[in-house]
Amino acid sequence: MAQRHHYLIALGSNRRHHRFGPPRTVLGAALKALEQTDIMLVAAAPIYTTLPIGPSTRSYANSAALVSTPYPPKKLLRKLKTIEAHFGRRRGQRWSSRTLDLDIILWDGGAFHSKNLTIPHILFRERDFVLRPANDIAADWRDPVTKLMVRHLFARLRKKALKDG
Ligand code: ATP
Ligand code: CA
Ligand code: CA
Repeated sequence: MAQRHHYLIALGSNRRHHRFGPPRTVLGAALKALEQTDIMLVAAAPIYTTLPIGPSTRSYANSAALVSTPYPPKKLLRKLKTIEAHFGRRRGQRWSSRTLDLDIILWDGGAFHSKNLTIPHILFRERDFVLRPANDIAADWRDPVTKLMVRHLFARLRKKALKDG
């Protein structure tokens, strides 16, 4: 059997899907969709929802999943993009609103870099919406770049948020 890898994946949605519904239920369905023949869902974080502030603002849902798979990084990214497309994600501008966003945050192979894929995800250390659910299921995972555990990165970000008000 091929060697298996563990990956930490961040899930996000800020757009409802005509069939799956609002972001929160989109993520519920996406967690199920992650489980495939060759991808085992090891753990799923709670789904966090940030409610819209004004009438026209979108609500966000975020979560994280730990998966085990024989796929190397680029192949897993291709699979994730297929799932995003299945949820109606259109390739478009970065950071535009989307039904489903699946990012690879960490894997057990250390740092990985290619033209279209960088692991650890370059911005995950600054993102509360990634570190909060990651901390629920992968607090002990160590970032190969800073050598800090997810729990430390999350604590550091929370301290910074308090300080900055
Ligand atoms: P951000 O990367 O800031 O979270 P985004 O998720 O909105 O932004 P996308 O439009 O979804 O950005 O992705 C742009 C490209 O980023 C993808 O096509 C992919 O090739 C590349 N990419 C690089 N590193 C990663 C990673 N760790 N996980 C997912 N995609 C990545
Ligand atoms: Ca993203
Ligand atoms: Ca993405």
